[in-house]
Amino acid sequence: MIIMKTDATEEDIQRVIAEVEGSGLRAAVIHGEYLTVVGPVGDERLLDFDKVATLPGVKEAARVETPYKLIGREYAKFLAEPGAHKTVRIGDIHIGNGEPVIIAGPCAVESRQQIMRMAEEVKKAGAHILRGGIFKPRSSVHSFQGLGSNGVKDAEEALSWLKQAGDAFDMPIVTEVRGESMIEMMAKYVDIMHIGARNMYDQDLLVQVAQQGKPVLLKRHFGASIEEMLSFSEYIAAESNKDIILCERGIVPVGKGKSYTRYTLDLAAIPVVHKETYLPIIVDPSHATGRRDLIFDMSCASISAGADGLMIESHYNPAEALVDGPQMVTPDELKDIIDACKTLYRTRKSFSHATDN
Ligand code: PEP
Ligand code: MN
Repeated sequence: MIIMKTDATEEDIQRVIAEVEGSGLRAAVIHGEYLTVVGPVGDERLLDFDKVATLPGVKEAARVETPYKLIGREYAKFLAEPGAHKTVRIGDIHIGNGEPVIIAGPCAVESRQQIMRMAEEVKKAGAHILRGGIFKPRSSVHSFQGLGSNGVKDAEEALSWLKQAGDAFDMPIVTEVRGESMIEMMAKYVDIMHIGARNMYDQDLLVQVAQQGKPVLLKRHFGASIEEMLSFSEYIAAESNKDIILCERGIVPVGKGKSYTRYTLDLAAIPVVHKETYLPIIVDPSHATGRRDLIFDMSCASISAGADGLMIESHYNPAEALVDGPQMVTPDELKDIIDACKTLYRTRKSFSHATDN
């Protein structure tokens, strides 16, 4: 990690980058609220840190032996206010360090009419960001794969409906990016690029999505430790993209009997991520439980544990939904959840021992 002085000039930063690149490494440049940090990416043994430390404008240069340093609180605490985590800004919506941000919408975009109606209803319920999948990761090849599965033309049409719905009700949009070939086309429409749980380990996808320069929502793989989730989010930061939103969405249940939920929601991941990094973390109670009757309680629990937001699947008629009907809440239920979460957020904030308060 190479930490620049507060008064380092652009020329000083460029000199450091040239030294890093001249040693055969790449340089990730992270501009914090106060300081700029240059993170060498690659085999750090090739870089003479003692020499870099003597360059003008350099405050500190040292090798850091952890899998996540660009996003780690320990090494990058100067990038955000002490104690606080980073705010990812999407227009005037701020994720992190404030009121919980609610992402809501159907599991999949099913038609223009459906996404338009959903946008109107989730906005009325108090949601801030609209979701809707174009490509659905499914266990069975015989089930609905999302409107995008028929090729680029259909994918782009469905995406344009999602965007029109977001624009009509003044909400940014988020959708899952799966195939690398669709990334550039999708980046033209979406405000937040979502990497699904199944693809958390796909480092090539992470890098290419990060290079679009848009905020990235990275979901935890259901078999991944917290350390793995953080290590893989470092691939995004290494592309000089620090607008990363992590998402806890449940891990594989243990034991032989019924677990009664689709996955096991790991609530402790929220304060742990806040202590380990400065990144915001949201929770998806829909995929974590797979059950409509548990979404209210798990949403409240997540906000009580300090989550920066929620991603909730909603449909005006869950029984008719082409995917994930059993976990969809109605817009009425969504409103109740959002109202409860706002109250819980304010209550939690009034206690000084809450993590990151
Ligand atoms: C989704 O949010 O649409 C989704 C498929 O979730 P996950 O990747 O967490 O399974
Ligand atoms: Mn779903």
